Amino acid sequence: MGIFEQSQIPLNAAIKAMKLDDGAAAIIAKPEKTTEVNIPVRMDNGKTKVFTGYRCQHSTVMGPAKGGVRYHQNVSMDEVKTLAFWMTCKCAVAGLPYGGGKGGIIVDVRELSDGELERLTRGYIDKIANVIGEKKDIPAPDMNTNAKVMGWMMDEYSKITGQFEPGFVTGKDISLGGSLGRAAATGRGVVTAALEALKVKKIKAKGATCIVQGFGNVGSWTAKLAHDAGFKILAVTDVYGGIRSDDGIDPYKLEEHVKKKGSVVKFKGTKEIKNDEFFAMDVDVIFPCALEGQITKDNAGEIKAKIICEGANGPTTPDADVILDKKKIMVVPDILANGGGVTVSYFEWVQNLYRYFWTEEEVIDRQVKLMVKAFAEVHAISQEFKVSLRVAAYIAALRRISVAMRFRGMY
Ligand code: GLU
Repeated sequence: MGIFEQSQIPLNAAIKAMKLDDGAAAIIAKPEKTTEVNIPVRMDNGKTKVFTGYRCQHSTVMGPAKGGVRYHQNVSMDEVKTLAFWMTCKCAVAGLPYGGGKGGIIVDVRELSDGELERLTRGYIDKIANVIGEKKDIPAPDMNTNAKVMGWMMDEYSKITGQFEPGFVTGKDISLGGSLGRAAATGRGVVTAALEALKVKKIKAKGATCIVQGFGNVGSWTAKLAHDAGFKILAVTDVYGGIRSDDGIDPYKLEEHVKKKGSVVKFKGTKEIKNDEFFAMDVDVIFPCALEGQITKDNAGEIKAKIICEGANGPTTPDADVILDKKKIMVVPDILANGGGVTVSYFEWVQNLYRYFWTEEEVIDRQVKLMVKAFAEVHAISQEFKVSLRVAAYIAALRRISVAMRFRGMY
């Protein structure tokens, strides 16, 4: 089963539980628009290479499509469609006036120079310029893209339209209209969601144990903010390997190490850990903050954690969900737990439209309040319908989206 097909399993469970109208269910099941482009890039050696990219607007029912652009060698249209679908639901769970979109380019960023990456980014924007825009579809960072890439996107798009376009993309540097608190936002949301989950499980945050998979933007900020909230981090992994320490890992010192060495491996005072041992660790919370499909039917049975709080998009497969449900492990789903990034993207967009900027305290305060409210709503739905938090989150999303569809006269 492909990833898009898999992603429809909890959606269909929600549709069934809430008895959603067939028309609304049929609309949400298909992306509105998908675009595939081929981008020629002049490489540093003078040769031309062609890269394939995608942009998908899954839904614009609630507002312009919104979602990041991923640069990765495994990007595919199926993955982009799935990620766009998750964005539609994520924005609706958070109550943002957005639909969902996503983009991606098939590229291994480790093989490109900065200049090649810039030309590729500009070429991608040139090709998709007609389907994106402040009121149409607003890109943002995702895996292997950051404020620097967003700056190139904004510059290229501003050249095409002939006007300053800060609101066309979020996750920008502060100098270009980026929002304070955006870089930490996804991690902050993940930790906020985990703290709410701990309250439900009646576990104190101070001294709660956790492990973090991934140490990119989401993983590193999750680790740092979890540490600040009193969590003890027992293990961290990245693409190159994993480390563990029973005394706890200081994520700030680990970040310094990663800056120098490019990976978490061989961090002072830690031992090596393999991926299968990692997920089987006896901790309060697992933070999967890397790729899709990490917790599967093959390792879910070994999991001893009380809570899984999904920083990544789609880290748990539907068959793993069944096992985790049986074991009464609370899974705080991606579309709730990692909605902090797009929430602060929304704040950035609002500040761009107004050309008036908020303090970091204002951003954080609004983000945390919004996420605590979203968690409470999803948790209440899960109690009411006797479903997992994942299915409850889809019900929360579908409720909002289906009302908007009805008032637009779509069904
Ligand atoms: N790429 C992030 C996500 O998957 C952020 C999207 C955005 O800010 O639009 O949620």
